[in-house]
Amino acid sequence: MDQSYFHKVVDCQWACPAHTPVPEYIRLIAQGRYADAYMVNWVSNVFPGVLGRTCDRPCEPACRRGRVEENNGADPEPVAICRLKRVAADNKGDVVARMPPIAPKNGKRVVCVGAGPSSLTVARDLAPLGYDITIYDAEAKAGGFIRSQIPRFRLPESVVDEETDYILNMGVNFKSSQRVDSLQAVLGEGYDAIYIGSGAPRGRDLDILGRTEAAKDIHIGIDWLASVSFGHITKVEGKVIVLGGGNTAMDCCRSARRLGSTDVKVVVRSGFDEMKASPWEKEDALHEGIPILNYHVPKSFECKGGKLLGMRFEIVKAVFDEKGNRSLVPSGEPEVYIECDSVLLAVGQENAFPWIEKDCGVQFNRHGLPVLDQETFQSSNSKVFFGGDAAFGPKNIITAVAQGHAAAISIDRFLNDENVATRPPHTVTLMSQKMGIHEWSYHNDISDDGRYAVPWVAAELALSSIRIEVELGFDAAKSNE
Ligand SMILES: Cc1cc2nc3c(=O)[nH]c(=O)nc-3n(C[C@H](O)[C@H](O)[C@H](O)COP(=O)(O)OP(=O)(O)OC[C@H]3O[C@@H](n4cnc5c(N)ncnc54)[C@H](O)[C@@H]3O)c2cc1C
Ligand code: SF4
Repeated sequence: MDQSYFHKVVDCQWACPAHTPVPEYIRLIAQGRYADAYMVNWVSNVFPGVLGRTCDRPCEPACRRGRVEENNGADPEPVAICRLKRVAADNKGDVVARMPPIAPKNGKRVVCVGAGPSSLTVARDLAPLGYDITIYDAEAKAGGFIRSQIPRFRLPESVVDEETDYILNMGVNFKSSQRVDSLQAVLGEGYDAIYIGSGAPRGRDLDILGRTEAAKDIHIGIDWLASVSFGHITKVEGKVIVLGGGNTAMDCCRSARRLGSTDVKVVVRSGFDEMKASPWEKEDALHEGIPILNYHVPKSFECKGGKLLGMRFEIVKAVFDEKGNRSLVPSGEPEVYIECDSVLLAVGQENAFPWIEKDCGVQFNRHGLPVLDQETFQSSNSKVFFGGDAAFGPKNIITAVAQGHAAAISIDRFLNDENVATRPPHTVTLMSQKMGIHEWSYHNDISDDGRYAVPWVAAELALSSIRIEVELGFDAAKSNE
């Protein structure tokens, strides 16, 4: 029998890109076994403390509880899978002794470019098997975008330090503050395999009228967030427009608010429902009093003497053809002018590999992405593997982790002269995963409670500092309800 069947019947577990055994860890939390719950997560998703605060949670829309509640007529809401992960992380105590033992060196050398979640996952999977792992990163500390982009009010740095250190302490050779500027040079160093987890570093620009003249007041959102994260920007004055509707835009607007701007607006080309930001990110921004203006297409930056004064927007509406394809057409309403002192551009990211020479045997498609096997992540140069945002474009942490696992399997097979395309079956836990009637070891009354909201710090306190974590997390008692 195809063992993936056992995963597929548990909808949330199948929907998680790393196939985290959700019912199992929630059961362990219910039994107060937080360290066990943490390690179940750690094996699958590698960063439970980080993900318990930031995961994009593709598991939650799949949760059956949402469908049960729908049938009962209440607002359908899934189990708070993500935030329960944080409960395990917050209450686990010291888990260092539970980390896997490291096998004697097997003589094979693997290098990872970038120390984001995908490369760290590769290192986590291969170091215990005896591989000699080197990781290069242009930044001083490991974590990639987890460290440099996600604001501290959503993810404290101590959590990033803890979970990156578990991996770096497995004997990994971390070459910090060292940007790789030639793949040819790396290939020349005789590594047995190369993993490229360099992320999707370049934010898109917006080349419209006035862009050059107003350059000093216009910032690429992800670069700006990195400067905030590293403490280079500590204050924002005046009115701010954030352009874009994704999670980067939400982080930009909430950060600008915390750094002093009392007038922050998010302006988006598309409608509210089509925005790429997660629903809870939009909700958090609105909760903090940040308006979101939809169907506004940027036309020009207006400036005087090199100082940005505002922006002009065309108002559009969505029309759909018979196949359901959407296009945005002028609504006929007059242009809108919005005053501002600075603009943060969060209109998408581009992959960029200026450091990969054309004669390295790595092919790229017309979108500038590497040509890869979709399952093995092997490139057209059999020694070179990609994963995370560098592979198929910007996604999220849990996808980067899942792709890191897949690539680590490929690298292990490749270096053992096994067929990389033959994938090992999913591992299966034969213990009952069921919650409720099959398990008498804990209280099993069915609860008709709705989903609990995660408690927040008071809004005045949250907005007073960029480093105060907004969500407090469920306490142990609440996680059991
Ligand atoms: C503002 C923002 C907020 C986000 N919020 C969330 C969120 O809440 N939840 C979520 O799931 N995802 C979020 N994401 C997406 C998530 O951060 C990324 O999908 C994820 O970090 C990708 O991991 P990665 O390992 O592929 O690369 P990255 O995390 O991008 O790490 C790549 C690393 O490679 C290094 N590097 C690049 N080129 C070189 C080179 N030539 N030499 C040496 N080092 C190099 C970089 O310095 C970087 O450290 C967010 C992204 C942004 C921009
Ligand atoms: S890692 Fe993310 S997607 Fe996977 S189970 Fe946890 S919250 Fe869900």
